[in-house]
Amino acid sequence: MKKIRVALILAVLAVTSLAAPKPPLSVHLYVIDCGVLDIPDTSPYRLTKEDVVTTKMSAPCFLVVHPKGTMMWDTGPVPDTNFKPGSATATMRYATTTKPLTARLAEIGYTPADITYLTISHFHWDHVGNGNLFAGSTWLVRQKERDIMFADPPSPRTEPANFSALKNSKTVIIKDADYDVFGDGTVILKSAPGHSPDHQVLFLKLKKTGPVLISGDLYHYPEERKRKLIPTTEFDADQTVASRAAIEAFIKQTGAQLWIQHDLPANAKLKKSPAYYD
Ligand SMILES: [Zn+2]
Repeated sequence: MKKIRVALILAVLAVTSLAAPKPPLSVHLYVIDCGVLDIPDTSPYRLTKEDVVTTKMSAPCFLVVHPKGTMMWDTGPVPDTNFKPGSATATMRYATTTKPLTARLAEIGYTPADITYLTISHFHWDHVGNGNLFAGSTWLVRQKERDIMFADPPSPRTEPANFSALKNSKTVIIKDADYDVFGDGTVILKSAPGHSPDHQVLFLKLKKTGPVLISGDLYHYPEERKRKLIPTTEFDADQTVASRAAIEAFIKQTGAQLWIQHDLPANAKLKKSPAYYD
């Protein structure tokens, strides 16, 4: 009897330690290092090597933890499956990362199965690397972006094998320009097309940090913003101009900080998981 009781207690303890952390009282934002892009050619950004502080780009992932659930924003360039046993790094095209996303999530107590919502800024390969990890989450996606992800033949700008499992995910097609994920105005997906057909940015209202706008690829290098440069490789350059104008007006109106995801020097200054912004 005593043995059974001990076994039961141990089983309960094991289950509790595997459970995701208790939901916080306000929104927490984790900036997760998902690797670095060694950009081979800056000319598509209308910039020379000398124009930029570094040609390299950061490729972060973000975990939003809300009292009512969790949401991943972007999944990095390198799939966890590219880590070979005994290797300290993994690569995908010109991206390198030093730790699997699953391991980074585990450091803060989460597994991919704990993630309520998956959403991505857009379909390019450097944002969808670990899409398959979140096939059990509810996928929040805009129609044109989903369409291009599963286009036949596939776009050379992405890696379909890295998100193929999303095809059968529980999916919510976002129709509104602004999509309020948890219904309280703290986590908003904002339409900002141009870089890709249905590119979006993420607006967060954090209690202590204040409002933050996470860029997707509205900009890559900060010099694009300063000099109003539109990359040559945009899906629709006119839309990019219009989206940038609308988002800049929104930033002005809300006083939000703009975090350019690919801006490596700026990203280096952000707190990384397991630390978080609240
Ligand atoms: Zn990108």
